[in-house]
Amino acid sequence: MIFLDAAATTPVRREVLEAMWPYLTGDFGNPSSHHTLGDTAATALASARDSVAAVLGCRPGEVTFTSGGTEADNLAVKGIALARQAARPQLNRVVISAVEHPAVEESARYLERFHGFAVDVVPVDGTGLVAPESLRAILRPETALVSIMYANNEVGTVQPVAELAAEARHAGVPFHTDAVQAAGWLPLDTGTLGVDAMSISGHKLGAPKGCGVLFVRGRTRIEPLIHGGGQERGRRSGTENVAGAVGLATALTLAQARQEEQRRRVAALRDAFINAVLTGVPGAVLTGHPTRRLPSVASFCFPGTSGESVLLELEREGVVCSSGSACAAGSDAPSPVLTALGYEAEVAQTAVRFSFDAAVTEEDLNTAAGAVRHAVESVRALGG
Ligand code: PLP
Repeated sequence: MIFLDAAATTPVRREVLEAMWPYLTGDFGNPSSHHTLGDTAATALASARDSVAAVLGCRPGEVTFTSGGTEADNLAVKGIALARQAARPQLNRVVISAVEHPAVEESARYLERFHGFAVDVVPVDGTGLVAPESLRAILRPETALVSIMYANNEVGTVQPVAELAAEARHAGVPFHTDAVQAAGWLPLDTGTLGVDAMSISGHKLGAPKGCGVLFVRGRTRIEPLIHGGGQERGRRSGTENVAGAVGLATALTLAQARQEEQRRRVAALRDAFINAVLTGVPGAVLTGHPTRRLPSVASFCFPGTSGESVLLELEREGVVCSSGSACAAGSDAPSPVLTALGYEAEVAQTAVRFSFDAAVTEEDLNTAAGAVRHAVESVRALGG
């Protein structure tokens, strides 16, 4: 099997599992306990926080461990907007882009349904990019928060985050970015990016599912969503997932260390794969930006097919990939991301996304490109 669905999830790396192992077994203490086992766990948690902070170029106190990317996005969007509204009730609008993950989009809709917020959606162009001028135009004196993702999970387009964050800063509005897909591939220095909050998820990086991080800058006010014993400096109560935090920190550090070399190698393989698919499959369309895209994502529409049938055919040929986001898998509805990019519903329904991890090889991608050609041909021969 050739696994080309790394944007959905990745296996846990051996080094990560080895780093986690002690905290799942002998050193199983609760970091809040006042005995040696507790101290050992607290030390491991602090060290994981230090490692994450080193990658993000921030202070350890600005790192909050969460149960994953979804919780980090919820905490950022709801937590910052609600804290700002509580301090100044006229701050009752949030800005998101038209291509956000549901974790951001639905958090904004929740604010709209239950807390009197209006949601302003900044459009993207046909490649999925948000123009800084479009953000500037949509900002209002009542805007409490801007949340625009770093890299898109369906088409891989990478936003000009530093420029967008600068627009928000200029208007005095905190800026959150969902960096779940960017982490491990793109620079994450929060100072250079100029973001006030940033979400990361462990399982996209070779750490287990169910662990994530939210960076929140310095004095940015944030209302917790989970109340209880006041762990994570009151921002996220609940006994910490010590092994998960250690795993995430290890995976992030490893990915960061190899980033430049890895990014170049995988981007070159991606480009060769895109080229092979575009030349081998008549009518194939690359979705997303041709160059400003994640090294790890190649996404297409194959007009005259159904994306789901192509996926089934590919799996029969030993290639595992997806139609877009794992959350929408199996759904017949056209992807809101592709709709936002301007694709008609019948073309959007033909989407297939190939996403790689750092271990991908040229041979895998050559085989996959051949399988794509066959799969699309057979689906078309059967009338889509
Ligand atoms: N944001 C983006 C861009 C994602 O791709 C995902 C996962 O697919 C998430 C958020 C949610 O992360 P998690 O699966 O850790 O909840």
